[in-house]
Amino acid sequence: MPKIIQLSAHVANLIAAGEVVERPASVIKELLENAVDAGATQITAEIRDGGMTFLRVTDNGCGMLPADAKTAFLRHATSKLRTAEDLSSIATMGFRGEALAAIASVSRIDLLTKTQDALFGTSLTLEAGTITEESEAGCPAGTTIIVRDLFFNTPARMKFMKSDTVEGGKAASAVQLQALAHPEVSFRFLRDGKEVLSTPGNGSLEDTVYSIYGRDSGRMVQTDSTWEQYRLTGFVGKPTDARPSRSMQTFFVNNRPVKSPLLTAALEEAYRNRIMTGRFPSCVLHLHLPSNTVDVNVHPAKTEVKFLNEKAVFDCVHYGVLGALNKAQDRPQMQFKTMPVSEHPHASSVKTAAQIPAKGASAPFFRTVTPEEYKTLSSVIRQAPAPKKEAAVTTASMIERSDSLPIQEAIRLPRLSEPTPPITDDEPVQQTLPMPAPAAWRLVGELYNSYILVEQGDEAFLIDKHAAHERILFDKLKSNQEAISSQSLLAPIPCRLSPDSAAILLTNHSLMAELGFEIEEFGDSTVLLRQIPMDLSAEDAADAVEAIAADLLTGRRQDRTDIRDEVLHTVACKAAIKAGWHTDEQELEALVKQVMSNEDLKYCPHGRPICITLSKQQLEKQFKRT
Ligand code: ADP
Ligand code: MG
Repeated sequence: MPKIIQLSAHVANLIAAGEVVERPASVIKELLENAVDAGATQITAEIRDGGMTFLRVTDNGCGMLPADAKTAFLRHATSKLRTAEDLSSIATMGFRGEALAAIASVSRIDLLTKTQDALFGTSLTLEAGTITEESEAGCPAGTTIIVRDLFFNTPARMKFMKSDTVEGGKAASAVQLQALAHPEVSFRFLRDGKEVLSTPGNGSLEDTVYSIYGRDSGRMVQTDSTWEQYRLTGFVGKPTDARPSRSMQTFFVNNRPVKSPLLTAALEEAYRNRIMTGRFPSCVLHLHLPSNTVDVNVHPAKTEVKFLNEKAVFDCVHYGVLGALNKAQDRPQMQFKTMPVSEHPHASSVKTAAQIPAKGASAPFFRTVTPEEYKTLSSVIRQAPAPKKEAAVTTASMIERSDSLPIQEAIRLPRLSEPTPPITDDEPVQQTLPMPAPAAWRLVGELYNSYILVEQGDEAFLIDKHAAHERILFDKLKSNQEAISSQSLLAPIPCRLSPDSAAILLTNHSLMAELGFEIEEFGDSTVLLRQIPMDLSAEDAADAVEAIAADLLTGRRQDRTDIRDEVLHTVACKAAIKAGWHTDEQELEALVKQVMSNEDLKYCPHGRPICITLSKQQLEKQFKRT
């Protein structure tokens, strides 16, 4: 065995730096936390070139005495912790005494600091963690730290840095987080000389949220509730404002920004059945709890926490948010339960094709697919891989082809209020004459403006019109391998995003162009959409780019084809006819024709069923006829 030696302080610091200092944003975070711990009421952060060459944080906090200023850069040097017992009730943001040592070891630092009562302040210069200059200095009370040339001595780490735009975006997000964490402190953030954030520091979370999210914040619902010894305050988005990603969810535990699957789950539980899958609520939520019921010492960056009583924390968030949403509800939610068809209060709303208003009445959204397109489509669809049979909701007895048969006239269903001929037990409900296979189908009508009812032989089909159309459009877009055609907008659409979402979109300019989007920088965390895919409406475009940004940020979709597919899904979904909206009879017929002629159309791109069956036998069972 080689001889064991203790690592030098410098090497130990470099190792710690790997944990604490990942990028400029993590430096900003640590320096802002220190300023808050120092009792500052005003903090200014400034970066140049994404923070790689220059990063400065100035505060009006307690400052440091000359000796303390030097000790601060030693590893495990902290004024915030004395004994092991203190660890169980941490009230400060920092406590590890690691950040300054770690940052200093991978950069060049200038420090200026002065306590309130001192006549002179202290100026220190450090290079790679070693003090190279030290002097008295005239300066205001408080502390300024300048970090230059981050990772200048660790080229391997430097290689992992993204563009200045991306790093700057992440730094901006870090400042936003700290500002939302501490409404009692006024934060300013300057990026390449331009002020991009400024919060009032008047203690009001509402005002802070407003200064960061602008008018959008007015739509959020306020929550303030207590549960046992826990308190939940903050703002949550309305279910109707759900976002395509979790990037707008922020949680604070005792003013510390945290990432917690438990808190996310508790929040989302409150929205169960109120928002679609794939959409996420936004929030700025503060959880306040006794410091001895939470362990913040589980992660070097202190972004993860462990709760003593997870169940109580979950309930506090879940019920707190639920209460707020219920109070703010502007529309009653419908409760569904299964009941026999005959008892269903909406049974009489079965609409027949004949009752549907004529074309042009109210269908502003529909994009017609021409018969030619349908023809090409069906050939594409026939070549598509078969869906997984085990996931099928439909019965296997769906009849394959019927497009060569004439489409029968839609027949009106008797309304429940109309007199119906008396039915006796021995009298069949309908004629069960032997049918030639495959039987012709007929469009019976539409239910709830969402489900098309089709009869074929001894089976009925309910087709989800949105899902069916979405799938058809998706296949069409996917079969077209060239760049997606786009439309130029007369009035570009501004999209407000999180800073890192905006940054990732801007750095993926060519990919976005391939997808049919032309994106331009516009202010700090806002981008302008100048061109969007042809099939996408202007209203849906902003949502789509946010969804793409989320995919790019999580790196979930590494592959370009995957990203392309995901975007095509989004475009198809947005362009498809909507459930609940009126659709012209011919359009319904055209859709049914597609679905009935191809088994592959039973699934929409996201795997939801397109079509379910209801056999005559099932119905007879329900009516106790068998
Ligand atoms: P920690 O925050 O975990 O204590 P740091 O390495 O971040 O460790 O800071 C070390 C010490 O330096 C702090 O405990 C504090 O006493 C002092 N310090 C750091 N930044 C400031 C500041 N902006 N104002 C006053 N004191 C500071
Ligand atoms: Mg610290």
